[in-house]
Formats: sequence, structure tokens, C-alpha cells
Amino acid sequence: MIHFVGAGPGASDLITLRGARLLKEAGMIIYAGSLVNPELLKYAEKGCEIYDSAGMTLDEVIEKLSDAHGRGIDAVRLHTGDPSIYGAIREQMDRLKELGIPYDITPGVSSFCAAAAAAEAEYTLPSVSQTVIITRMEGRTPVPDREKIRSLAAHHASMVLFLSSGMLEALSSELIAGGYEPDTHAALVYKASWPEQKLVRGRLADIPRLAAEAGIDRTALVLVGDFLGDEYELSKLYDKHFSHGYRKAAE
Ligand code: SAH
Repeated sequence: MIHFVGAGPGASDLITLRGARLLKEAGMIIYAGSLVNPELLKYAEKGCEIYDSAGMTLDEVIEKLSDAHGRGIDAVRLHTGDPSIYGAIREQMDRLKELGIPYDITPGVSSFCAAAAAAEAEYTLPSVSQTVIITRMEGRTPVPDREKIRSLAAHHASMVLFLSSGMLEALSSELIAGGYEPDTHAALVYKASWPEQKLVRGRLADIPRLAAEAGIDRTALVLVGDFLGDEYELSKLYDKHFSHGYRKAAE
């Protein structure tokens, strides 16, 4: 059996209990070495075969996984954060399906959750935004035209930008061109949950400069939106004048 496992955002105790158990039981682990904290490999048993996928192609990864399957070994394919977000797992699952190799998926804590924790933020603040947009600037992977930053920015939702910290000037201009005020609250979180985590807070127009000053140009998320500001309404869920299925309103 092949197990796709979300490693979590970095800190080795932010993997799920199931993920850690699967690492312990694995005879082979292929991990995404560019972003997965190698400390997680401490969960592996002695003798486990370990490969870093950073230097491997899709064909090579599939070859290893299919070799493990052929030998009756359980293999873990360890992806950073949650594998469903920019994880390139679909292409691996489809190949395994073609080969008749069974697999399952264990979710992980995505870095956008760890970034919110670092910033002590809530993306979905009442009267501010009830929507989180997860997107990226276009890189080698094209972004469909209807999803360009400029048009997404028009919603003024809470935004999380992956894979874009090397293009902050362009990102900030696009967000502003799309309708965010230049003084919209923004933050940059580098290596959320790692010991070397850095958090930079500022305004949208200043983010490129603040990032340069902090020396951040990779492994970071950009957070943008009024959810980083001070104004919001209290939630209905805990409002004493509001009844719901689990609690009656005060008289
Ligand atoms: N599947 C991952 C994302 C992989 S894409 C997840 O769910 O988090 C790689 C990008 O994710 C990086 O370029 C960076 O933008 C972001 N990233 C991953 N880990 C991060 C972390 N600990 N802190 C900040 N950004 C991170």
C-alpha cells in the first residue's frame, strides 16, 4: 500500500498521529526534501529506505513506489503541509491507478493554517470576510485567466498567496490594481512553525520592502486583507442574545 501523507507545515510535532504512525510502519519513505522538515524522518524505523524526491522526476518516484509495492513494502509519499494544496499528488495517484497499485491519503496541516497561527489571525471574521482565497502568482505553472490576482483581489476576501514570495513587487501591484487599497493590512510569514519562523506585518504597498529588509524571498506566505486589522463584529455563535441548537439565548 502507498500512503500519501501530509507532513504539516514544518514543526515535527505538527504531523497528524496517523501520519506519524504511517511513517513508523513504512519500509520506504519518499519525502519532498525542499520543504519537508527532515526531523520528521526520526519517526521512521531503522532500515527504512528513504529517498528525497527533490532530485527525482515523476517517473522515478512512481518507479520507486511501484518497486516497494512489488516487494510487499508499505511506502509513504511525504508531502509538505496538506498534499491537496500545490502538492502534485493527482498525477501520482493517476499513475498508481493505471498500475493497479492501491493508495490512500492522510491530510496534513497546511502552511496557510500555520501562518494564521503565527499571525494570531482568523481569516473569517464576521463583517470583514467570510471567504479565504488561496492562490498564487503565475510562475512556470500558468494560472487560468479568470483567476488572475487582479480579478480575485476585487472580492476583498481574505487572501493567502502561496509560491509568490519571489515576486512581491508584481504581487503587490496586481493586488492594488485589483482594488485593494495600498494601505490594506498584509503580512508575510516565513517558514511558519519552523524554529526560524519570521513574521512581518505591514501594509500592502510596503510588503516588498519589508520582505527585502527581513531577507525573505522564499518559503513564505503572503496574507492580505482586513482580517489582519482591528475591526470586526463579535460572532453570533457565542453571542448571549442568540439561540442555536446547543444553547438558548439569555432572557
Ligand atoms: N502543500 C503545501 C504547499 C506546497 S507549495 C501546504 O499545504 O502548505 C510550497 C509553498 O508553500 C512555498 O513556496 C510557500 O509559499 C508555502 N509554504 C510551505 N510551507 C510553508 C511554511 N512553513 N511557511 C510559509 N510558507 C510555506
